[in-house]
Amino acid sequence: MHRRITGRLVIATHNPGKLSEMRELLAPYGIDAVSAADLKIAEPDETGKTFQANARIKAVAAANATRLPAFADDSGLCVDALDGAPGILSARWAGETKDFNGAMARIERLLQERGAREPPQRKAHFVSALCVAWPDGHLEEVEERVDGTLVWPPRGDAGFGYDPAFLPDGHTRTFGEMTSVEKHGLPPHGLGLSHRAKAFVKLAEMCLK
Ligand code: IMP
Repeated sequence: MHRRITGRLVIATHNPGKLSEMRELLAPYGIDAVSAADLKIAEPDETGKTFQANARIKAVAAANATRLPAFADDSGLCVDALDGAPGILSARWAGETKDFNGAMARIERLLQERGAREPPQRKAHFVSALCVAWPDGHLEEVEERVDGTLVWPPRGDAGFGYDPAFLPDGHTRTFGEMTSVEKHGLPPHGLGLSHRAKAFVKLAEMCLK
């Protein structure tokens, strides 16, 4: 049996880009979303080997610290020609200074080294794993992805992270060239295109409707 989310929900992220996306997604459901950063909850070490394991570590830590239901996501970019890298290390490739131009350039360097110049050799996908943890130990979990191709040079300055290098399949503009509504807005206003939007729709079916 899935459990409904009602009332107050802690969003276990310190990433402002992801926080604002999640707030937009949760707003229509009347959820009082409060961030882990606002509650001054320390971030646990992400020691999991999968996106889902890391989402669970963050959600469980926040639920235990606040005694409230807590929501966490873990996400990243997986590049086929790089055996799935940077994957769960996507944030870490940007370093302490969050230099995503540098991280995109590093991916491009590695692709060039492997001779990956044509679109079919440059396939990548974003993954979003979501977890809601309750203080009594109950968990709800989903995972979704969006497939695309990496472009060089990066295009657009909307979004965050690797958005400017990612061209979702079936589109002519990168995530960095799309408005937030186009990238992760839900129908009828948006296309529910991003990995996080798709995972969120699934979670909403299970826990918010
Ligand atoms: P984490 O989920 O906080 O471990 O970080 C995942 C990292 O993956 C982010 O810091 C971004 O670099 C990257 N990432 C995840 N989702 C997106 C997205 O929608 N657009 C661009 N980059 C993303």
